[in-house]
Amino acid sequence: MTSTDSPDCLFCKIVAGDLPADVVASSDSAVAFRDIAPKAPVHVLVVPKEHYPDVPALAASDPAGLAAVVALADGVASELADGQYRLVFNTGPKAGQSVFHVHAHLLAGGELPGFA
Ligand code: IMP
Repeated sequence: MTSTDSPDCLFCKIVAGDLPADVVASSDSAVAFRDIAPKAPVHVLVVPKEHYPDVPALAASDPAGLAAVVALADGVASELADGQYRLVFNTGPKAGQSVFHVHAHLLAGGELPGFA
């Protein structure tokens, strides 16, 4: 556990290896694993190893950690798809956030639907 681990956090447990996940890549500070309910041919969640509830909290406290999440996502998109992708950080329940350990949804593979 690191100082910022949250004991009841699902993604902290995945990072710690206490819950199973289909991990596709990791770096010093981030882990990428497949979403259990994929919304695209490639749907991977990229999380910092340390616990922050959402992306503004991560950006404010550890901008290098946010950059590491983006870098790992970019690498996974090149490995599992063609390097073209969408990154989504749902922030807050009204935006659809249901797990309060910041995570980037990496969506790739094929044509993604447009917004609006
Ligand atoms: P959010 O709704 O933006 O917070 O995204 C949470 C995501 O976590 C959803 O897309 C879920 O399908 C996914 N998820 C929930 N539990 C697990 C798990 O145990 N492994 C992998 N993905 C999960």
